[in-house]
Amino acid sequence: MALNWFKKKKHKQEEKTPSDRKIDEDSEVLDTEDVADTQPSGNNDDREHQKLENETPPPPHINDQEADQTASKKPSGLFKRLKSGLSKTRKILSTDINELFAGNRKIDDELLEELEEILITSDIGVQTTMDLIQNISIKSSEISGPDQLKNILREKILELLDATTKPSQEIVDKPHVIMVIGVNGVGKTTTIGKLAARFSSSGKKVIIAAADTFRAAAIEQLTIWADRAGVDIIKHKDMSDPAAVAFDGIQAAVARDADIVLVDTAGRLHTRKNLMEELKKIKRTISKKLPGAPHEILLILDATTGQNALSQAELFNDALDVTGIALTKLDGTAKGGIVVSICNALEIPLNYIGVGEKIEDLQEFDPIEFLHALF
Ligand code: GDP
Ligand code: MG
Repeated sequence: MALNWFKKKKHKQEEKTPSDRKIDEDSEVLDTEDVADTQPSGNNDDREHQKLENETPPPPHINDQEADQTASKKPSGLFKRLKSGLSKTRKILSTDINELFAGNRKIDDELLEELEEILITSDIGVQTTMDLIQNISIKSSEISGPDQLKNILREKILELLDATTKPSQEIVDKPHVIMVIGVNGVGKTTTIGKLAARFSSSGKKVIIAAADTFRAAAIEQLTIWADRAGVDIIKHKDMSDPAAVAFDGIQAAVARDADIVLVDTAGRLHTRKNLMEELKKIKRTISKKLPGAPHEILLILDATTGQNALSQAELFNDALDVTGIALTKLDGTAKGGIVVSICNALEIPLNYIGVGEKIEDLQEFDPIEFLHALF
């Protein structure tokens, strides 16, 4: 029944493995105008904020000691922002799981099937959902209500999240170069602005290189972010060679004794040009100018695109060896389960999550805290 349904799903998924997909010679395959047009909806819901202000502390955690340590490490304002940002996903995962047990229901195939649907709706992914459900059906005798179910889910999800988490990268070289990549509209420029502010407020000297020269508006947008963060920006005219901008950014960083260079890039080019080739060229130019650089290739993924984000990650990783991921717009989606998919399906660590459009809405990804904010 429940598991039969999954076997069918699994079979379907295997018919279309991501490795079958090819990078289109023309970067049109990554043309995500639809994505770019999807503006985050209701990200700053005042009512939700108000509700959170009044909320009682979260229910007991599988590992309360760990959770308490995390909560005391983080200023409560940041945790509130995280909770507020994840509200849509929490509605699915937490509220709907509570509702499953309405009327004193017990775990049976029907309930498991409804749970499968909840997990799939949150974009945890078919394979991961299957694993979770299997785990729950094994332990079903221990489960008599939503709290026990959530505890088992948390425990299992934490294992999946922990698997790819690694401590944030030490910054040893000076300048430390971070090349930021991703398709159009995912939040590259915004994330660079937020990162610049973070590094700058921790005492680092930051330079931004405006190597998305595809549109004049992109350079203007980045200039506004650089002003906001109070950091220098290196820019050329629009349509100029992006690799030359990256080169100048590093040259300026060396001359000005800067600690960090953030390189913005385009997510879409003229149809004649191949995005991946252009990005590779920028990367090569950076390495030539500064051996060992870029130290990080940060891929930006948009949580609202759901499972699409996974195939983008594979395409970019094949071409450029991505070192980390920043997942944006978790506040605009009920599909925050994509975090679990990303950690489970990819070998690339999830470094940051974006939970809003403001400068302070970028957080380092912390699995325990994430789960604590979700359930
Ligand atoms: P780029 O084309 O990849 O450089 O994307 P932009 O940085 O221009 O961002 C595209 C849109 O996504 C903008 O409207 C941003 O404000 C928005 N955005 C970026 N990150 C987030 C986030 O974490 N949450 C929300 N709600 N919106 C975001
Ligand atoms: Mg941009």
